[in-house]
Amino acid sequence: MSELRVNGERLWASLMTMAEIGATPAGGVNRQTLTDEDKRGRDLFRFWCEEAGLHIGIDRMGSMFARREGTQPDLPPVMLGSHLDTQPTGGKFDGALGVLAALEVVRTLNDRGIRTRAPLEVVNWTNEEGCRFPPAMIASGVFAGVFDLEYGLSRTDHAGRTIGEELERIGYAGDRPVGQRPVGALFELHIEQGPILEAEGKQIGIVTGGQGARWYDCEVLGAESHAGPTPMEHRRDALRGAAALLEEIYAIAHRHAPDGRATVGEFEAYPGSRNTVPGRVRFTVDLRHPDGGTMDAMDHGLREAFERARGRHAGRLEFHLEEIWYAPPVAFDPACIEAVRQAAAKLGLSAREIVSGAGHDAVYMARVVPTAMIFVPCKDGISHAEVEYASPEACADGANVLLHAVLARANA
Ligand SMILES: [Zn+2]
Repeated sequence: MSELRVNGERLWASLMTMAEIGATPAGGVNRQTLTDEDKRGRDLFRFWCEEAGLHIGIDRMGSMFARREGTQPDLPPVMLGSHLDTQPTGGKFDGALGVLAALEVVRTLNDRGIRTRAPLEVVNWTNEEGCRFPPAMIASGVFAGVFDLEYGLSRTDHAGRTIGEELERIGYAGDRPVGQRPVGALFELHIEQGPILEAEGKQIGIVTGGQGARWYDCEVLGAESHAGPTPMEHRRDALRGAAALLEEIYAIAHRHAPDGRATVGEFEAYPGSRNTVPGRVRFTVDLRHPDGGTMDAMDHGLREAFERARGRHAGRLEFHLEEIWYAPPVAFDPACIEAVRQAAAKLGLSAREIVSGAGHDAVYMARVVPTAMIFVPCKDGISHAEVEYASPEACADGANVLLHAVLARANA
């Protein structure tokens, strides 16, 4: 059994075929959740799963569970997978690697006629990215009891369409209850999305937990006026108020270096006319840190920065700050982490422990299921970008660690 390896070429071919769905001219992928492209990606995944003899179940959040029966079918399943949705200018590997490596694990077991004691379930979670329907990881969040189903189905995109409506439209509104069943363990393979493994020449990241993250919606309100006749001191320029605030937001991350992160990823000025002083600005803030106490200090720092801005622009501008999501830092299951460590050692791959900087479905699932993650390096640490790249060797290494970690757990 320790000689067992996945078929790296087949895994790579599946990754490249999936990447054709929503392919962008610059070599990336735009397969945002519950779009027509997502439907095509799901259809292809379903076809491959059925070809591998798996039985597909879909829950009410649209997450797909492809089951391979174990020799003891009443044991809770070992889950493996990730997500097939992407950012608008996403890459070929974020999410897709975890799903298709999980499928490759099953194909490899089929090739060799190996049955596990516990059943296996290859999972594709709905809306991991959260770019179209905030917040991120919503379907795994409902599965883990972080959100209720009604909340999940009623999230809207910029056009006002809900997750529930879009699931119906693309034909993936399943009838299974979300969660509420035992799961033996969960393993998610993912690209690192950061530079550490590549910089240190390590092949595998043994992920011990996830950073905390807080998301905010922010708004600055002033008044529109003519760009010519209005003297500078008479303006109520919402963009100028927001601009002064930005450096204070970045300073919060620098005060908590090296692990603090602050990102303003969306920023819009209204009405968006070159000769009108902007009367309204809308932007988002994303704060992260691996330590819960520090996350609280960063939240406090952000609220203070808004308070100072209100003082600076009293009577002229309004500053609104709303926290829309908080995911506290998470520690993964020691036994599952050990299974990943032993799999990497058995395969002779160089490895180090690492904390996930990004949110993942596994981070929510860790609240209710023994969970661990496996990272592989990606080029220059770049993801959420069309240039995102992981080598065929790195993808196969990660899939082999996934294979052996899952086998150890499912046969325990
Ligand atoms: Zn991802």
